[in-house]
Amino acid sequence: MRVVAAAATDIGQVREGNEDSFLVHDPLFAVADGMGGHVGGEVASTLALETMEKLFDHGAAELGDLVQGANRAVFERSQLDRTVTGMGTTLTAVLVEGDRVRLGHVGDSRAYLFRDGQLNLLTEDHTLVHRMVVSGEITEEEAAANPHRSILTRALGVETTIDVDDGELSVLPCDRLLLCTDGLTGMITDGRIREILDAAPDPADAAKRLVRAADRAGGVDNITVVLLDFATDDPALSAEAPGEGRSRRAAREAPPGPRSEAGRSLPWRQIAIWVGASIAVVIVFLVGTRMFLDSQWYVGVANGHVAIYRGIPASVVGFDLHHVTVETTIPAATAESLALYRDLADGITADDREDADATVQRIRDDIAHTGSPGPLP
Ligand code: MG
Repeated sequence: MRVVAAAATDIGQVREGNEDSFLVHDPLFAVADGMGGHVGGEVASTLALETMEKLFDHGAAELGDLVQGANRAVFERSQLDRTVTGMGTTLTAVLVEGDRVRLGHVGDSRAYLFRDGQLNLLTEDHTLVHRMVVSGEITEEEAAANPHRSILTRALGVETTIDVDDGELSVLPCDRLLLCTDGLTGMITDGRIREILDAAPDPADAAKRLVRAADRAGGVDNITVVLLDFATDDPALSAEAPGEGRSRRAAREAPPGPRSEAGRSLPWRQIAIWVGASIAVVIVFLVGTRMFLDSQWYVGVANGHVAIYRGIPASVVGFDLHHVTVETTIPAATAESLALYRDLADGITADDREDADATVQRIRDDIAHTGSPGPLP
């Protein structure tokens, strides 16, 4: 059986980098969708596929060994390099051996078999929403619309070993095998994918059309497709696609930048925990500060008069930590003319409201007794 392979990738319309990668290295083919920030995601998906390719070229013939090797490489890099800690990737890979195809799968990228006009999903999404569909909590339609549909329950490179879904199938001439990331299946239906595969016999054209359709449907994620067309060994019966047998990587259409939409579980969960914890700390601080300030009293000056304040006589970055509770009619200048109240403007602290009232009364009495100038109420 001959394989004619084609691949296409696109950054989509929202993301600022392409964290998807693909591998076309006949007879080894794969797609990977990285996670863990734009740097980590890109490193994880690229490293996983490069590792598989290298191991295969060095004689590793079992797909399971290639996937475990890729997992180790990504995990070890994330342990050594702090800039990519926590990264991981999906991986959907096939190894073609004659008319047998071995399949290895982790995450929510997918493999489909297109045969006789029918499209069949070969993989199971390792996502939270898929688990909920299986357990009957939500329907397929609800899952497709769920904003958390990208939360993965399994990803390559986050632990020392990985539980891989493996499968094997026999292929027939004219079969098409589609590997794709969720940027395709999240944007267009299986029905639309089937229509495009039906209408575009050339694999390179079909791959391009699939990616374009997902991009036009919104392109909220990176979109990557690898399409394998199986044909008989008779070269007269099948045309070779340009680029077959060469290894190609995901194109980087845009310079790396901050992710505008993080679709994966790990970074979002970490961010949510940190944001939540930070908000809690700020609330505790604000409530504590408010309770403390409400228990503080002092006598000072407001609008040229002796006044009772709640709080402390200070400001922090332009915010006063006090407010006037009572403004008396005693002129501040008259009080400050007495040595005892010279520093009135700086505030005379009181134990409580009663103590503050007593201080005001004392000021009033002292002014009266010393016969200080100025009007008194
Ligand atoms: Mg994706």
